Parts: sequence; C-alpha cells; structure tokens
Amino acid sequence: AEAITKPAATAAEPRVLDIVSLYPRDMNIYGDSGNVLTVRRRAELYGYAPVIHHYNQGDAWPERVDMILGGGGQDQGQGTITDDLFRRSDDLHALADAGCPMLLICGMYQLFGNYFQTAEGTRLPGIGVLNVTTVGQPHRMIGNLVDHTDEFGDVVGYENHSGQTFLHGDGTRPWGVVDEDGTGNNGTDHTEGARRNAVIGTYLHGSVLPKNPRVADYLIRIAAQNRYGAFDPRPSAEATRELSRLDDLAARAAKVAAS
Ligand code: GLN
Repeated sequence: AEAITKPAATAAEPRVLDIVSLYPRDMNIYGDSGNVLTVRRRAELYGYAPVIHHYNQGDAWPERVDMILGGGGQDQGQGTITDDLFRRSDDLHALADAGCPMLLICGMYQLFGNYFQTAEGTRLPGIGVLNVTTVGQPHRMIGNLVDHTDEFGDVVGYENHSGQTFLHGDGTRPWGVVDEDGTGNNGTDHTEGARRNAVIGTYLHGSVLPKNPRVADYLIRIAAQNRYGAFDPRPSAEATRELSRLDDLAARAAKVAAS
C-alpha cells in the first residue's frame, strides 16, 4: 500500500489560535460580543487562523485554549452560569497561571473575583482568579469612562454596574485609574479594572476592543507568543489598509468618548 505522507509544514500552514468565548448566551450585554469579532478579525488580518469556541454551560471544554473572552451580564445571567464556572475553575486557574491572555468584562470580571454579592444580598461565589470582591448597592454606576492605564494609555468605554469592586493585592493590581468624576471599580478609590498575569478584568463595555485595538493586539500577541514562540504578523497589503482604517475609526471613537 502506498504510504500516506503528511506534507511538510510550510509558511502557508494555518497558524490556528483557539479562542474561547465564555458563556455568550448568558453573559453578553452592551455589545460585548464585539470583542470576539474584533479579536477574530484582527487575528485574521495578521495572518492567523482564529477558531472561536462558543462555550456555554454543559458544553465540552475545548482541547486547546489560547485566549479567553468573557462578557458582562445581568445579576440573573450571572446566577445561571456560576455552577458551570465552578466546574471550569481548575482549568481557568491553570490557564491564568500559565499566562493565557484573558479579557473579562463587568459581570464576568466580578465572577473571576472571590465573590459578587448582589444589591439584594445574594452572594454568588467567584472562582478567585483575581483577588477582588464585589458588593452590589442600589445606586448604579453608569456612563462613559476613560481608564488611564500605564500599559495601553487611555482606554475608553462605557460602564453600567451596581457592583462595587475592591482589590485585595497579592498579585492583583488595578488596570488603571479614572478621573475625579469617573467611578470605575467602586466610585471611591478611583481605580478601574484588575490585572494579574495576562488576565484583564474591567468594567468597560462598548464594545471595548473595537474602540481600543491596542488591547486586542496585546491579547493576540500574547496568545501567539504562548503557542508559537513569537508574534509574527503577516498582513497582506489589503489587510494593512484595513488595519489602519480600523485604527482611524477607533481614534475617532476615543475622541468622542473622552469629550
Ligand atoms: N450584574 C452586575 C452588576 O450590576 C454586572 C453588570 C454588567 O455586567 N454590566 O454589577
């Protein structure tokens, strides 16, 4: 019989990135699914082959995970997914410890902390990847927000949450700071979001990644480095033009949001 030979790897071999969209059915408000679209498109433009795994409770966990994206949710949606999130806790901790890039917005940010207690007093346990705790209060924090970060400069977005989040150190540090009139994590200490390893938790909806492509590129770069040893973008001429158009649009959106 003729041997079946596998063709040698060439430059044309697809460079897959496995990206998990976490609980898109219950945790996706204020356009957070736009983050998944942005990462997918930009990864394609850089010459990667992103595969999006839409993971909802009860689904099989993908064999390979290069990035995690999680959106915000109503208190009720958060209650629906916590049992399953706990079943995935070991996987998610291992990934975070190994430097897997993650972006967790609002409701999912809260549940990656130690707990979220709703304004009504129900305590939803979190998986503790980030050392933060959140307690809801009757007054919601709503509005456009500029997050001044050291890593990415100003990151713009929109917040709408009842939960006040406080950071408790031990490797978890604020992502950035907000101006006097902004609320961010809790409305009192002027911090916004949380960082640990390659994990970013933030209150910024928007969607945040189309408006802040530097953050999307960070997530893609770390994912590619972890999997392939280096981030090696190979955009076509057409892709380069599209990337610069997207950057122009983002700069315009940022100007509006900051005004
Ligand atoms: N339910 C949470 C809160 O109100 C999260 C809301 C959100 O994800 N926007 O604090």
